[in-house]
Amino acid sequence: MFIPTDVPEQLAAVGKHEPRILIVGAGVAGLTLARSLRNRGLRPVLVERAEQRQESGYMLGLMPFVDSVIGELDLEREYLERSVPVRRYRLCSSTGAPLREYSVDAVLGEFGHYRGIERGGLLELLATGGVPVAWRTTPHRIDQHGQRVRVGLTGDGIDFEAEFDAVVAADGTHSATRSLVLAPERVRTCDTAWGGWVTWADPDDLPDVYQEIWGPGCFVGLYPVPGRLGVFVGGPRTDTRRGPSAFAELVRDRLRIVDTRCSHALTTLAAASESHYWKLSDVRCARWTVGRVALLGDAAAGFLPTAGVGAAMAVESAGALARRLARADSTGITEALRDYERVQRPRVESAQRNSRQLATLMLRRGRTVSRARDFAAALAGMNTAFGPIRKLLARRDRDEPAPVR
Ligand SMILES: Cc1cc2nc3c(=O)[nH]c(=O)nc-3n(C[C@H](O)[C@H](O)[C@H](O)COP(=O)(O)OP(=O)(O)OC[C@H]3O[C@@H](n4cnc5c(N)ncnc54)[C@H](O)[C@@H]3O)c2cc1C
Repeated sequence: MFIPTDVPEQLAAVGKHEPRILIVGAGVAGLTLARSLRNRGLRPVLVERAEQRQESGYMLGLMPFVDSVIGELDLEREYLERSVPVRRYRLCSSTGAPLREYSVDAVLGEFGHYRGIERGGLLELLATGGVPVAWRTTPHRIDQHGQRVRVGLTGDGIDFEAEFDAVVAADGTHSATRSLVLAPERVRTCDTAWGGWVTWADPDDLPDVYQEIWGPGCFVGLYPVPGRLGVFVGGPRTDTRRGPSAFAELVRDRLRIVDTRCSHALTTLAAASESHYWKLSDVRCARWTVGRVALLGDAAAGFLPTAGVGAAMAVESAGALARRLARADSTGITEALRDYERVQRPRVESAQRNSRQLATLMLRRGRTVSRARDFAAALAGMNTAFGPIRKLLARRDRDEPAPVR
């Protein structure tokens, strides 16, 4: 449950000897951090630009990177209730025909869960027990002086100032907070020139099967969550400009075989009154910390969807940052933030590289190259495709904060 609480009221609750931590963005990363810090006895101030949240958002497949944080938060039972297991992954070729089906357990099972959940469901889960948040609030200025960060905020249209010991920008890929501390040339984007729509379809009789169709100049992804099916339909942006209905027709033309599930998804997209368009590009930053300001989640490294790991890495990073912040007093904050960057940045950038490599395989236009890709994909298998992710999962538990000096 979110508890609407403005910034002065949240600040009044912070203990006298406790660091004053501002978290910008009540999304996956910001909320995980807020909840993790609260569980450790701190009271961070959480602000969110949006109106109070009600929408369920889109579908997320969460890799085992989240398991230890969910466990630390004592939310495992609720997590399992609100999500579905993903047991099989069905890959369809450039013609739309099934190419191979993989056991997800065989690839990820040794590391923990792989679950499908609605983004809104995950946020509600993280807010279990009550998390105060100031809605319609965003920073517009950040000045760092010695051990203090002075932040200019706008809440409900009114400007005011507040002082903090640390600020965490968790306001997503297009982070406006990041642009208050990092020059534009330090933020790089990788653009695939593809994009697509996200929508919901009715559930079917394959509630534990992720299915992807890597077509020539089109991509269809079908991802179950409890009670419904998340759908992504995309292609080169030069083609998706025609709009969802015309593009859905184009996908039918480009694929020779459109199975019932895919057909249902395309019909749903064509009829949807609202669907969210997603431009497939990512973001990488030269630095994650500037003095007492840290970047977290997509604000630090925004992901292409191809490995389906952005949210999981955001949760893992939030856990790593919480562990460090909870051990630091006001004077040790800069060091705690630097240690967080030291450990998490290489891990997250490695997962981001994996997503980029998969994009070059999955997002292809021509028929001939797509057929060659089918052949390579069938040969390589999931263990190879997810090799770097498996390596990161195997090395998860080495993340100990540097000793306090
Ligand atoms: C369609 C889709 C499917 C995806 N599928 C998967 C998947 O299967 N598996 C996976 O692991 N990842 C997936 N991802 C990626 C994942 O959603 C992100 O990596 C993850 O949400 C990052 O969390 P975040 O908190 O950094 O950003 P977000 O969850 O985007 O949250 C950012 C928050 O900041 C708020 N905000 C923005 N600007 C401001 C501001 N100026 N001031 C205050 N607040 C602000 C926003 O309103 C939002 O609440 C998917 C993404 C999309 C779009």
